[in-house]
Amino acid sequence: MSHLKHVAIAGATGAVGVEMLRCLEQRNFPVGQLTLLASARSAGKTVKFKGTDVTIKELKADSFEGVDIALFSAGGGISKEFIPHAVKAGAVVVDNSSAYRMDDSVPLVVPEINAEDVKKHKGIIANPNCTTAITLMALWPLHQAFGVKRLFASSYQAVSGTGAQAIEELERQTREWAKAERKWDDVRLPADQVKVYPHQIAFNALPHVDSFLDSGYTKEEMKMENEGRKIMHHPTLRASVTCVRVPVFRAHSVAVSAEFEKPVTVEAAYEVLRTAKGLDLVDDPTLKKYPLALDVAGKDNCAVGRLRLDCALDNGLAFWVAGDQLLKGAALNAVQIAECLV
Ligand code: NAP
Repeated sequence: MSHLKHVAIAGATGAVGVEMLRCLEQRNFPVGQLTLLASARSAGKTVKFKGTDVTIKELKADSFEGVDIALFSAGGGISKEFIPHAVKAGAVVVDNSSAYRMDDSVPLVVPEINAEDVKKHKGIIANPNCTTAITLMALWPLHQAFGVKRLFASSYQAVSGTGAQAIEELERQTREWAKAERKWDDVRLPADQVKVYPHQIAFNALPHVDSFLDSGYTKEEMKMENEGRKIMHHPTLRASVTCVRVPVFRAHSVAVSAEFEKPVTVEAAYEVLRTAKGLDLVDDPTLKKYPLALDVAGKDNCAVGRLRLDCALDNGLAFWVAGDQLLKGAALNAVQIAECLV
């Protein structure tokens, strides 16, 4: 590969794809040529990259001739269909979907944790689930110091985690309520306003992210244990998670209670978290300082706070971690992986 890379983004018009483009530009990734791909609906539209208009093309099997690095962000079905073509054409693929994450031949990478795994790739590297990536940004340094055994967590996930149509749904439902000048006790909207989620998302909290498994957990909830084990090389990690969609536009938050092998104190945990890469420690409840979705939205770093000894676990620590899932949970992490390749 020469110094400048031919980079392709499949899903360039989506919530993640737009951020990928921004990350490539802001981080001054060595882009020599850029191929932007989406569905036929977007073909012909233009977007700006470093001040130049780039035309979106329709994603096809032969879209990857000469491409060095292909960032995929168009859903699992598209990944399964088109990634083999990209690999065959000689591109190294970073995939944002869940299609290849648990494939033994595909590294699953958060660069702050297991950048070394990138070297083992055979053409595809997977980007983790967004809630898992954000949680691990705080859990990994604690694990290195104290050895995590198991965790209990509840997520508060933003609608942009579902993509562009879900962002539009929360905007539309909120406007619909405000437009009618309704009161607080009159918030239920007509059924035809509910399109993306199974229930109204505005003024609501849905304990339902992804599809349900026979166990009663959702697929999203099991990603924390499955992907956490693979990324941290920790095959005995156990995680019981409840994932909740909330009417927040951008940035996921996760309440975690983790149990460790070694005794843990809040001060010792502070020491570890203060120096963790990609993480800010925001923890002064007396001054009302703790990580907020609004504060981490648009930021590269995740934030951790509300640290306290867990009163129901031995060697337990409870904390709150928040991060922009479009960035660390998707686009930024993918571009960081691409940086490992160059
Ligand atoms: P999105 O906003 O719905 O965007 C989907 C993208 O895929 C659009 O560019 C769309 O193009 C393109 N696409 C759809 N159908 C296509 C087709 N038949 N051929 C070619 N392109 C097609 O979704 P997103 O939130 O960006 O998510 C994309 C992927 O990233 C998903 O696999 C998701 O699970 C994963 N992910 C998302 C997040 C997040 O926070 N959103 C986090 C981690 C991982 P058009 O505009 O032309 O329709």
